[in-house]
Amino acid sequence: MGRRSAKLLWCAATDSTFERARLGEREVLAGKCIHCKRKLAVDLTGQPIANETVEHIVPRTHGGTDAVENLAIACSRCNQGKGSRLDHRPWSDPTLQAVISTLRARRRARMRPPLAGLELPPLSPPDQDTAPADSAQRGRGTKSRGRRGR
Ligand SMILES: [Zn+2]
Repeated sequence: MGRRSAKLLWCAATDSTFERARLGEREVLAGKCIHCKRKLAVDLTGQPIANETVEHIVPRTHGGTDAVENLAIACSRCNQGKGSRLDHRPWSDPTLQAVISTLRARRRARMRPPLAGLELPPLSPPDQDTAPADSAQRGRGTKSRGRRGR
């Protein structure tokens, strides 16, 4: 399972709008976009059904991590919209801050313990923990919770 699939599956497993459902032959987790609340689904291996994407609530450009509370599922249109409009604004930008706090509150309200009966892969496999260049930019001004320290 790839990293994107792992994140999508973790998001769905811990988001109370997502429930097991059937979509034709496939068993899926069906729930709602963190932005527009449109119906979204991922299958039980974390494959997107349509164009589901992983939203980083605190954008990676601002040191946002892959901790599960910083992740949410969004349709690609919403994700790209926020991404191109906001992620590159300065941290102090009021619109950026407003969107982050709205999404954070929404994610928190939806948070639940991971749904039972799913095969959830580790979110940060050890071999990718030490990963490349971008880990250097990470963590500035944010907690580096969820990464195993050494
Ligand atoms: Zn959406």
